Amino acid sequence: MAQKSNIEWTDSTVNFWWGCTKVGPGCDHCYAETWSKRTGDNIWGVGTSRRKIKGAVALLHKLDNGYSWWSADHEIAGYHQTSRRRVLIQSMSDLFDLEVPAEWFAEAWQTIERCARLHIQIVTKRISAVEKRLAAIGVTSWPQHAGLMITVCNQTEADRDIPRLLALKDKLGIPWVGLSMEPLLGPVNLTSISDGYMDGIPIVFDALKGASVTGHPHLDWIIVGGESGPGARPMNPDWARSLRDQCIAAEVPFFFKQWGEWVSALQVEGATAISAAPAASGRYAHPHRRRVHGGPLDGQCFEGLPENHHILRVGKKAAGRLLDGIEYNTIPRAFR
Ligand code: SF4
Repeated sequence: MAQKSNIEWTDSTVNFWWGCTKVGPGCDHCYAETWSKRTGDNIWGVGTSRRKIKGAVALLHKLDNGYSWWSADHEIAGYHQTSRRRVLIQSMSDLFDLEVPAEWFAEAWQTIERCARLHIQIVTKRISAVEKRLAAIGVTSWPQHAGLMITVCNQTEADRDIPRLLALKDKLGIPWVGLSMEPLLGPVNLTSISDGYMDGIPIVFDALKGASVTGHPHLDWIIVGGESGPGARPMNPDWARSLRDQCIAAEVPFFFKQWGEWVSALQVEGATAISAAPAASGRYAHPHRRRVHGGPLDGQCFEGLPENHHILRVGKKAAGRLLDGIEYNTIPRAFR
């Protein structure tokens, strides 16, 4: 748990427990698992115990007591000195993990409900477990100071989980819902989400605008980011651009979190000089770091892009978070 978070779209994180089970391609390089291996904890996978974090309940209450908080390095569009602190719940685990004892979940949920002076941000990869988990502790409504996001990495996950998220938003009265599209692993069209069939006809709706036929409300926030850390997979710039353009057209807040480890060579200053084939050494020159070590992906091209659209592993810091020269930090109206 941390009072000050390095995650760009939140202020603080609180973890009631650590440990999880991988449930999709977005979990392949889970940093929380990597971290737990370093500490020697056996808290990953089905059938293993999670580690309860002492002091998490007290920490959330402490944050709630100092709810008004602002610092210059967190100044983003529409976020004021009087704004309430945003707290991400569970950055090292999943709040709706069914391996977690019901009493742990109940304690966490009751604490979240009580800390109503915060903006609570919940991200899950287990949207299908949310209602069941809440029902098991007798909860049928949603706290109005909390929002719910799901992780979506590709179109398959978008089609599978967005209709569930929007149905829950409607049913439980969730004030805002969003997508954490990190790591983004493929192109996603949010304006054309498949939602089963009606009278044998496929239903497709625009998740950024909602749909009158299905009765779905719309998404309120889209966060996009590439993968970082060991084994990180590159994000095609056009996937991010497309999501940005979809959000702008629908006037849905778009937050570009990071490129991750990889960038397109064309994004890097002086890239034309280095977008040719790698030197015999298998290394590329890089204007900021002088040398970038060649790896299995270095110098490869994204499918469908010009031949000189090489990708380079430059590291998360050097890759930064500018998309076509702009920092996208838009947040939902609920935070302002
Ligand atoms: S759901 Fe989150 S915490 Fe759990 S394994 Fe996947 S990435 Fe890690």
